[in-house]
Formats: sequence, C-alpha cells, structure tokens
Amino acid sequence: MHEVSIAEGLLATAVNECKKSGYGRIEKVSIKIGKASGVMPEALLFAFDAMKSDTIAGAAVLDIEEVPLAGTCLTCKKDFETEESYLLCCPHCDSSSFKIISGRELDITELEVF
Ligand SMILES: [Zn+2]
Repeated sequence: MHEVSIAEGLLATAVNECKKSGYGRIEKVSIKIGKASGVMPEALLFAFDAMKSDTIAGAAVLDIEEVPLAGTCLTCKKDFETEESYLLCCPHCDSSSFKIISGRELDITELEVF
C-alpha cells in the first residue's frame, strides 16, 4: 500500500519542519492531494493515524483538501476540470492533446505547531 510510505514521508517532513523552527508539537498538518495523484485520502488518513503515535505529531490532525483534475486543451484551447481521477481526452472536443494544470499534486500546505 503506497499510502503508508506517503504518510511516512509527510510525517517525517512535518516533524523536521517543526523541529527546525524550534517547536515541539504538531497540532495539524494540512495537505493538498490531487485527484489524479493516485492517493486515496481515507487510506492516507488511516496510515497517518497509525504512524503518528510515537512522534511529536501524536495528537496531530491530518487535514486533506482534494484538488480536482484540471487542464487546458491544446486543440480547442478551452480549460476543463473534472471529478474523474484520470482523463483520456478533452471533455470539450475529445482531443487527446491536453496539458494537466493541477490534480497531481501532493503538498503540505500548512503546519500548525506549538
Ligand atoms: Zn479540446
């Protein structure tokens, strides 16, 4: 399950950032997950909660914001956004040449530390 290694990475980054700024406790980790990143938010939450107990993030809440898949079509030049987790062609003109603008990210957007 690759959510486990992602949760591990998130936790390590959060703990590092927290210590670097001289704080000792993490209250909240806010992240953005693109719908096309292939990460299941529920699985990530589960993995995060299972792993955090022995760390300074033991009481931390993982706040997940899902980012829809969005892009621009190179053929009809229109922007699009979809709730799907993948896209084979432009929803407007069925062209297969398009550029993904967002939906693949996995970033920590905010850390609440004390
Ligand atoms: Zn198009």
